[in-house]
Amino acid sequence: MEPLKVFINGTWKQSHSNTYLEVLNPANQECLAQVPVGPETAKDVSAAVEAAQNAYLQWKKVPVMKRVQCLYHLKQLLETHKEAIAISITNECGKTKDESLGELQRAIENVEVACGTPMLISGDIIEDIASGIDEMMIRQPLGVTAFITPFNFPAMIVFWFLPYAIATGNACIVKPSEKAPKTMNLLFELIQQLDIPDGLIGLVHGGKESVDALIQHPQIKAVSFVGSTNVARYIYSECGKYGKRVQAQGGAKNPIIVLPDAELDLTAKIVADSVYGCAGQRCLAASVVIRVGDEKNTVKEALVETVKSKIVGYGLNEGVSMGPVISKESKQRITGLIQQGTEEGASVLLDGRNITVPQYEGGNFIGPTILENVPVDRSLIKTEIFGPVMSLISMPTIEEAIAFINNGAYGNMACLFTSNGAHARAFRNEAQAGNIGINIGVAAPMAQFPFSGWKDSFFGDLHGQGRHAIEFFTQTKVVIERWPNEWSRKF
Ligand code: NAD
Repeated sequence: MEPLKVFINGTWKQSHSNTYLEVLNPANQECLAQVPVGPETAKDVSAAVEAAQNAYLQWKKVPVMKRVQCLYHLKQLLETHKEAIAISITNECGKTKDESLGELQRAIENVEVACGTPMLISGDIIEDIASGIDEMMIRQPLGVTAFITPFNFPAMIVFWFLPYAIATGNACIVKPSEKAPKTMNLLFELIQQLDIPDGLIGLVHGGKESVDALIQHPQIKAVSFVGSTNVARYIYSECGKYGKRVQAQGGAKNPIIVLPDAELDLTAKIVADSVYGCAGQRCLAASVVIRVGDEKNTVKEALVETVKSKIVGYGLNEGVSMGPVISKESKQRITGLIQQGTEEGASVLLDGRNITVPQYEGGNFIGPTILENVPVDRSLIKTEIFGPVMSLISMPTIEEAIAFINNGAYGNMACLFTSNGAHARAFRNEAQAGNIGINIGVAAPMAQFPFSGWKDSFFGDLHGQGRHAIEFFTQTKVVIERWPNEWSRKF
């Protein structure tokens, strides 16, 4: 099998590296690709940045209305090739085809919002800030930017950044996850068709070595990262060391509170979709469900019933509602955490550890799992599982549930299910998380809004998507001009 190429200076090239990792379909272990990794990938980074810098010097002079024309084209290409991209996503990261199409839709929406950059980029001007003096703030691009993305959304996440960076006049280098890199090559076959300078959007592969090379390169001006918290923290501090602008999204441990007045059947369905969608491999997947007001709250029974109806299998097969997890190592880690939970005192209401999927015996499948009475001070409640596992706990009051949430290390998402507006309002105000859902299980911000995250779920200031992205990819310049009336009167 031919190794995945890199896309540098507008052409496909072999990587400088001869070391490869196999990319396996998590449903059946079929080898989909060989991805270059290792220290030699740093040479790909140097070549890509050099080409991007040259392209940037031309691109920044192109008027913004003209720059966004390539985004209209990109949207049309993404829509035309939706089916093939969705199949690629499912094959390399396991989610169902509907989930892959949903992911792609979110990507397209970001392209659409970035088409509004001519409005979003506009600066401020105040005439006569002092007599005869005008002051204005304009936004200018940064230069070459880098995007480092995780495996779980091989197509979508790069679009939190790329359309905004390009529309605002920057160049960029994409470094997808080595666990699911192939979809990005497919996307670059579309990017290749855009009318942009060669090198403006580059693609490199690899792991830590290519990431370090990007961060350390003097011509990379900003880094957008999405991945696990430990790596996000590392990226943030390295970028500080090398003087780079940075936004680094980390991991999560998302809680959902269910009050006794929640509409039960609907709540159970939405909560189950949140926990088990994408096999729990979503940074906005709920992981801990807190039922408040024990004896009146029968959400547990409703949840077990709903969850039992999930059909686990290969994501391209009809009727499948949950795919495998990304790798054998990941499966082992998740089943180990379930075991650890039981040793810490949790009881297993639904056990997905020994599931087999006929014809896909080699797949990394874990069935939906529910653990009950997980001790709140033990590691399972604090560790991001990133698999189809729900920890069900109880709290006497909503105040205690909110305090529990706010004591957690992460702050990606917190949700409340209730029919009481006053509780909803208090929760919205008090819960310490960047994305809040009220009767919503996956509070994923639409492209107009920043993809927020607090505490250990985000390191930086400005997030991806919408206005935040426009601000992140531009630097402000303030100009003060003196044009006294008397001068013009002389001529
Ligand atoms: P990961 O941290 O292992 O990898 C992410 C990226 O970092 C990859 O491109 C990888 O090559 C690179 N990388 C890995 N180790 C590195 C190192 N030591 N030094 C430099 N670079 C390194 O994450 P993953 O397993 O691909 O993705 C899952 C994680 O991503 C979960 O923790 C999930 O919560 C998180 N995530 C967060 C968000 C969000 O918006 N907060 C969105 C999606 C995923």
